[in-house]
Amino acid sequence: MNLAIINTRLMTFEGDSLGLIKNGAVGVEDDKLTFVGKSRNIDEEDYEEIIDGSDHVTMPGLIDAHVHTSLSLLRGSAQDVPEKEWMNRALGPIAQNMDEEDHLLSSKLSIMEGLKAGTTTFAEFARDVDRLIKDVYIPFGVRVAGAETINEVVDKEGELYVLERSEDKLAKNERLFEDHAEKGLVEPIYGPQALDMVTLETLEEIKRRSEEKKRRVHMHVAQGGREEEQIKRRYGKSTVKKLDELDMIQEDLIAAHCHGASHEEKKLMAERGVNMVGCPSSISMIDGIVPPVKTFLELGGKAALGSDQTPGNGAHNIFREMRTISLLSKCHEKDPTALPAWEALKLSTKGGSEVLGLEDSVGTLKEGKKADLITVDLKKLNMTPSVDVPFSNFIPNLIYSTTGYEVDNVIVNGEEVIRDNGFVSIDEEKIRKKAEKRAEKIFSRAEVDWLEADSEMVKYQREGHI
Ligand SMILES: [Zn+2]
Repeated sequence: MNLAIINTRLMTFEGDSLGLIKNGAVGVEDDKLTFVGKSRNIDEEDYEEIIDGSDHVTMPGLIDAHVHTSLSLLRGSAQDVPEKEWMNRALGPIAQNMDEEDHLLSSKLSIMEGLKAGTTTFAEFARDVDRLIKDVYIPFGVRVAGAETINEVVDKEGELYVLERSEDKLAKNERLFEDHAEKGLVEPIYGPQALDMVTLETLEEIKRRSEEKKRRVHMHVAQGGREEEQIKRRYGKSTVKKLDELDMIQEDLIAAHCHGASHEEKKLMAERGVNMVGCPSSISMIDGIVPPVKTFLELGGKAALGSDQTPGNGAHNIFREMRTISLLSKCHEKDPTALPAWEALKLSTKGGSEVLGLEDSVGTLKEGKKADLITVDLKKLNMTPSVDVPFSNFIPNLIYSTTGYEVDNVIVNGEEVIRDNGFVSIDEEKIRKKAEKRAEKIFSRAEVDWLEADSEMVKYQREGHI
């Protein structure tokens, strides 16, 4: 790929601000950015294809820093239910009717959806992540920070989960590092699911290996009451205190959620450089909680946003997540100045790259970095008008007015994945139709189990609401 986007409102996110260049241009050669600057300084003759970026914002591709893509065939299946019902009585009875192919198809649907809304890097957390990488991420040409889910729970029936050490699961995670040793689209990450779901032996081994390899550990941390109870019973202390004892509260850790941590613990995590990921739509939907993103930022910590999964969240759309965390934070703080548009934008660009340890390659636009770019069409009704004097109103509009589908060009690793709103080489309608058919089968197969589980969703159905 050899192209340039010219005459565009360019946001580089280099430096402390958004790095706005009002009449900017970017040049791409192979997988890299070869020019980032003012439009009048680019030599157009160096590029084979020129895209006119007027009436557009050009910015780094967005980063979804915590995502489970393989559940999207169950979109809309577990919402408006009590937290304790969500997994076992709402989602579970339907999810148990999915097979491997359904998970793969879900993943395709999720990634297509994310791409269309400008996401170019996904921090995937999945069982058999190698298969998603091989069959979806690489063929789709999308950047992935992939963690294999290591879950060693063998029995959940009793008060305390029964854990059994599994060399196989860790070995499967480890193979990612061998299979993707060359820096390309895939960044392997360790994925112990949560402190209550892995043995200490495995966790200590992961800690040792991640240090040796200088790789990150992605983990659900302090994600609420159920985990808190398990950890208190097992170790007599909180998740963060136990992780600190294991010397894991440090900068290799990517900690998803964190809403169960005390203020002191959040402070410790921020000070030690732990990488926090908040999933605003998902956590507000499932737990009725505002992720502590603003707290982490205030404490000087690093933070990013994730879409988590669609059965709760509803969508893999980082524009929505940026808007949601901004609005939730304003309500939570009872302060309309909380988490303004520019901070939300940073969370899913520069912030996302720092949290995932990818700041040398993506997250900002700079010559020599990987070419992960999106353009946003400002000619849409909901983006009109766009003015530059005396200030750039399109910056708040990017958060408060977008749906995400104003994104019309998506370039990942120097390759055009979406051009003028359409996929270049992915057959969107074919995959969508297949998803529709398979989901219909899953939902109908699950009918009896679902009714028997008798969640609030069943009540809503009986009352004719859904
Ligand atoms: Zn998760």
